[in-house]
Amino acid sequence: MVVAIDDIERVTVIGAGQMGRGIAAVAALAGYEVVVNDIDEAQLEEAREDIKWSYGKSVENDAATQDEVDAAMERLSFMTNLEGAVADADFVTEAAVEQQSVKEDIFEDLDTAAPPEAILATNTSGLNITQLAEVTERPGQVLGTHWFNPPMLMDLVEVIMTEHTPDAVVETAETLVEDFDKTPIRCRKDVPSFIVNRLMRPYGEEPAWMVHRGEHSLREIDSAMKYGEEFPMGPFELADYTGAIQLRVEGAEDHLKDDRPLAYDTDVCPLLYQLYEKGRYGRKTDAGYYDYSDRDEPDIPVDAGQGFDPLLVWAPIVNEAAKMVQHGVATVEDVDTGAKLGGNWPKGPFEKADEVGADAILSRLTEVASRHENTDKMAETLPCSLLVEKAKRGETFY
Ligand code: NAD
Repeated sequence: MVVAIDDIERVTVIGAGQMGRGIAAVAALAGYEVVVNDIDEAQLEEAREDIKWSYGKSVENDAATQDEVDAAMERLSFMTNLEGAVADADFVTEAAVEQQSVKEDIFEDLDTAAPPEAILATNTSGLNITQLAEVTERPGQVLGTHWFNPPMLMDLVEVIMTEHTPDAVVETAETLVEDFDKTPIRCRKDVPSFIVNRLMRPYGEEPAWMVHRGEHSLREIDSAMKYGEEFPMGPFELADYTGAIQLRVEGAEDHLKDDRPLAYDTDVCPLLYQLYEKGRYGRKTDAGYYDYSDRDEPDIPVDAGQGFDPLLVWAPIVNEAAKMVQHGVATVEDVDTGAKLGGNWPKGPFEKADEVGADAILSRLTEVASRHENTDKMAETLPCSLLVEKAKRGETFY
């Protein structure tokens, strides 16, 4: 027996870091009894204070009443003992550190200690969920629920299936996410980076290649995407903000070893290695693509991008989106919802494609691919058959 949505009352969150404490705060405010577990007592104490603080902000902003947050605080408990934390759990969300071996150990322990009907979810940003499922005796009850930071404010949760996940389990997880007052999108296959971060990759990567080859400047592309296309940040500004240079370089080998469907098989742009070797990781090191030693924000002139064609950035993103639909990973609607709610993009890739026409996307993609000529990257940038068909028939995605 697997727990049904009406039977879910108790949620346990493993890991009380930035994400775990946010997820716990959301679940308790939605009326669930929540246990927060961490190996580090100090983290639990910090999490309790942090949740109190964020509830205070919710009251200040009229998002909740004082009575509601007081009741939510009462529903939260904190403990270092894993067995105790999950003994009565109906739904467990693991949000510990992003290491496959640590998560596999946790899932083995959860499988032993949690009730057999409980669903076990992971908040991994992109590790192999199928392998986590397979260390347990209940692979059909293991799935991904990928939240966005900060969970109290971000509306989106990606729900990721593996080949073992039955529809009933993914539907229960999605209904729970809705009960938490969040919007679920379904990632139907366990692919690297899931949906939103698969779109983010070309947004950061293609512009880096263009700068590396000397075709365009940082400010030209950032200005075009931020002020012209109304993205919250240009690709380089965003990479400096998220620390993407370090994440991409240090994760490169893991990506190349990944054997899941739609695994990436190309290396990182050399410009990222050059910045990484100089210790330029982004804002946190005071320099990345831009220098932050004497200013907090990069200097991006509003009109610097006027000569840049933003479809050169959109085209590889639409291609990646179309690949996901073609391979049965996600629907057109879920991809666009993910881009807008997870990335705060002004529109989804399919909305953009329908606005300009699939043929315009295809012609820019052909140009981007030709710029990658004689590299591995060229194959990755070639148009997928769904996009080619849409362009040939003059059809829209919606
Ligand atoms: P974090 O470093 O802030 O917190 C991790 C916590 O896990 C720490 O408190 C640590 O003490 C605890 N921990 C480590 N091993 C443990 C164990 N065996 N049992 C229980 N607790 C343990 O990390 P985070 O940013 O909150 O990320 C947590 C997970 O969420 C990661 O898988 C990460 O990839 C994913 N994620 C992060 C973000 C983000 O923006 N930070 C967004 C989406 C997903």
